Amino acid sequence: DQNKFQAIISHCKEYGFVFPSSEIYDGLSAVYDYGQYGAQLKKNIRDYWWKSMTQMHENIVGIDAAIFMHPTTWKASGHVDNFSDPMIDNKDSKKRYRVDHLIEAHAETLPAAEGEALLAQMDNLLKENDFAGLKKLIEDKKIKCTVSGTSNWTDVRQFNLMFSTQLGSVTDEASEIYLRPETAQGIFVNFLNVQKTGRMKIPFGIAQTGKAFRNEIVARQFIFRMREFEQMEMQFFIRPGTQKEWYAYWKEERLKWHLSLGVSPEKYRYHDHVKLAHYADAAVDIEYEFPIGFKEVEGIHSRTDFDLKSHQEYSRKKIQYFDTEINQNYVPYVIETSIGLDRMFLLTICNAYEEEDLSKDGKEDSRVVMRFPAKLAPIQLAVFPLTKKDGLPEIARELMDKCKSSFFCFYEEKDAIGKRYRRQDAIGTPFCVTIDHQTKEDNTVTIRYRDSMEQERVPLDKVKEIVLNKINE
Ligand code: ATP
Repeated sequence: DQNKFQAIISHCKEYGFVFPSSEIYDGLSAVYDYGQYGAQLKKNIRDYWWKSMTQMHENIVGIDAAIFMHPTTWKASGHVDNFSDPMIDNKDSKKRYRVDHLIEAHAETLPAAEGEALLAQMDNLLKENDFAGLKKLIEDKKIKCTVSGTSNWTDVRQFNLMFSTQLGSVTDEASEIYLRPETAQGIFVNFLNVQKTGRMKIPFGIAQTGKAFRNEIVARQFIFRMREFEQMEMQFFIRPGTQKEWYAYWKEERLKWHLSLGVSPEKYRYHDHVKLAHYADAAVDIEYEFPIGFKEVEGIHSRTDFDLKSHQEYSRKKIQYFDTEINQNYVPYVIETSIGLDRMFLLTICNAYEEEDLSKDGKEDSRVVMRFPAKLAPIQLAVFPLTKKDGLPEIARELMDKCKSSFFCFYEEKDAIGKRYRRQDAIGTPFCVTIDHQTKEDNTVTIRYRDSMEQERVPLDKVKEIVLNKINE
């Protein structure tokens, strides 16, 4: 539903969640900035992932590796040779397309069986890197450039997705370095450092969150596909031969994590990969039903010993583990869980967004409400004195001071109470508390719940506990 998606994008901008990057210069394609509420929501998601992975698992530790890495890293990882997509340019519109996206978009316009046949044909050609065949397929099917309806194509070429830059001031080839296209390699090259200094025993994991960069060619769909984005990855090191069990374990465990945020299970599905990347012996995507359809949010990959072996070969340093239980030296196998933070953010926004009709007795009324889980909401408690006088702001300020070291609070004394509630609904604040004249008499306040819009009278000194209980649920 494109309309709902557009409404969500507008809402994100209007309420300070996401802005186009450098907007005063008309923006930069596929790059976005997070606003005041977006940055906090994103941090809460990242923290929740980090805590679930590290604090909740005794055998997973976190690191923070640099974005820049020695250029040989990307030879070893296969990115220099393999991290590219076949592209085709339209000669009239001068636009470049990823061949698979172009054909997929066309397949969607065909009757189901015909579309599937086309995709199967494309997959075969992609598997064989048959570029001439791909071009012929595009011409035979009369696939048009969506912008101007023309079908005047160049040849199909490979296009590497890594951004490169120069280290230092000398511009020779040796000083060319890349912005990392994934965070995983920072974990692999530190395997021995962490294993030795942390005295880690297999099986164990290393987690990391951080920016990654890809020169995506098809860059649309808001923050779903960006050129600068953030990943949350965990590499789990295991004994060779146990990869099937651990793959199954993490596949299930990661879906559980998603469901722990209260998303309905029908919104999720697994997509098992048939075509595998060069490093994998099994791979699955966890997909979520966005307003634009089911799309990948997270990947779980059985990476074998590909990465560690390859780094061993390129660095000529032994990267092995001595397993005291079986008295053997080996290069560990790896199960990877890799989730895009920005995609998880988009999921959280899409899942929370609701345009609720509140019309009653012929009187039209509606609200936009963001039903974030309380632990993720950018503001968790809003505090409103009913009026600006009679000592009510002072009581409200006291409550703020009591609560703000434990969770995010927001103070507002302008506008009618109803209007203040609606504004917090749009930001997704789960609790609003109003201090009124009765508070001065009996020390009770009105607490108003975002989801049900119900209000009840509770003791002022219970407010902190009520909010904390909900956040820690
Ligand atoms: P896609 O097929 O969508 O390009 P991918 O299979 O290349 O993604 P991975 O390399 O497995 O993705 O990356 C792991 C996760 O990182 C993805 O599941 C996604 O959530 C996130 N991700 C990858 N590329 C981007 C991007 N350009 N913008 C935002 N998030 C991304």
